Amino acid sequence: MSTPLQFNLTAADIPTHWYNLNADFSEPLPPPLHPGTRQPVTPDLMTAIFPANLVAQEMSAERSIEIPQEVRDVYALYRPTPLLRAVRLEKALQTPAHIYYKYEGVSPAGSHKPNTAIPQAYYNKVAGTKRLATETGAGQWGSSLAMACQVFGLECTVYMVKVSYQQKPYRKLLMQTYGATVHASPSMETEFGRKALAEDPQSNGSLGIAISEAVEDTVKHPHTKYALGSVLNHVCIHQSVIGIEAIKQMELAGEEPDIVYGCAGGGSNFAGIAFPFIEQNLKHGKKYRIVAVEPASCPSLTQGELRYDFGDTAELTPLMMMYTLGHKFMPPSIHAGGLRYHGMAPMVSHCRKLGLIEAVACPQLKVFESAVLFARTEGIVPAPESSHALAVLIDEAKRCREEGKKKVLMFNLTGNGLLDLAAFDSYLSGHMKDVGSDD
Ligand SMILES: *Cc1c(COP(=O)(O)O)cnc(C)c1O
Repeated sequence: MSTPLQFNLTAADIPTHWYNLNADFSEPLPPPLHPGTRQPVTPDLMTAIFPANLVAQEMSAERSIEIPQEVRDVYALYRPTPLLRAVRLEKALQTPAHIYYKYEGVSPAGSHKPNTAIPQAYYNKVAGTKRLATETGAGQWGSSLAMACQVFGLECTVYMVKVSYQQKPYRKLLMQTYGATVHASPSMETEFGRKALAEDPQSNGSLGIAISEAVEDTVKHPHTKYALGSVLNHVCIHQSVIGIEAIKQMELAGEEPDIVYGCAGGGSNFAGIAFPFIEQNLKHGKKYRIVAVEPASCPSLTQGELRYDFGDTAELTPLMMMYTLGHKFMPPSIHAGGLRYHGMAPMVSHCRKLGLIEAVACPQLKVFESAVLFARTEGIVPAPESSHALAVLIDEAKRCREEGKKKVLMFNLTGNGLLDLAAFDSYLSGHMKDVGSDD
């Protein structure tokens, strides 16, 4: 018998509830603060840009939150996602370690982001929202939200960081194919965008600027709400479907992971794979090691400070307690666009503070070396973001080889890299450099 590679669930196994780690923290998460008064923000302040049902989730400490049937029906387009064992990668590494990956790249948008885009569109729809505004970096979030808005009959307007809009046209086209309106940010659509352009007509834009534009758009248009693809508590909660499924699938595989790896940009996919395993550690005496991997060039968890900071450049958002490089930080244009955020989700930051997770940073050349090895052994071209987790997992698998030790290693393959091939071109042609890393 050859080694089984897939550990599949059926539609009946699509989770019925999301898991909210806020119920199980030993000390409560510090609340977001109003930037003027520095008092905890009240729900009515947040309902200026989010619908009340999502604000309730954002502030909830309920452990288990029921997933609406309408959301599960859309999840059924691609969930449960596969869990696979990377036997060919193990062979190439000659490691006694067993390597598993949860593959979120099978979603329509090619990443884990629809896990939250779908419920966010749904909750907005039932709350009476007609139009959603958002920002996107390389376009993974914008395309996920554009798809979800289409499913639930909402209009979608996306402010896309200008350098990506110009250099990475495919996700822009994907958003337009899904019916969204896409503006290069900074744009002439908002006061903040016009100001940014007046100061620097050549501005490449940044995620912080694009968030500021989307928030301004939201407050200035009727029936419009704002949607964010990472960082916030409700996003981390929605992503828990990843870890909930993975735990069941590891049972089918008959093994338990010694170490679980996830890449961390804003923190949402990491939260999604990690938090259900952390629940097992906290409540069921398990000892899973859980490792967040971030880019060496945007190292909020490993080099940032834990303090209150803004989520955006224009200082429009509430202050959040998080590991941050500062809201004016301009990350270098590394090829893993989805990991270029100055801060880290407050829930993930809190996990780090309480010692529930570990964090490491990885330089991009090593990331792409690992990504290419994965493509050539497992056949899937991994997203550059996901390949951060993979690269650090491969280090551990090599250590297992040197020490002759079997360990079970798992990572979250958050997306495929089929729309990131220009980055692979840069790597394969030898033009890529490590930026802002110290090795
Ligand atoms: C957006 C994105 C990430 C990073 O975002 P998180 O909120 O940190 O999960 C990782 N992988 C892919 C494929 C992405 O699109």
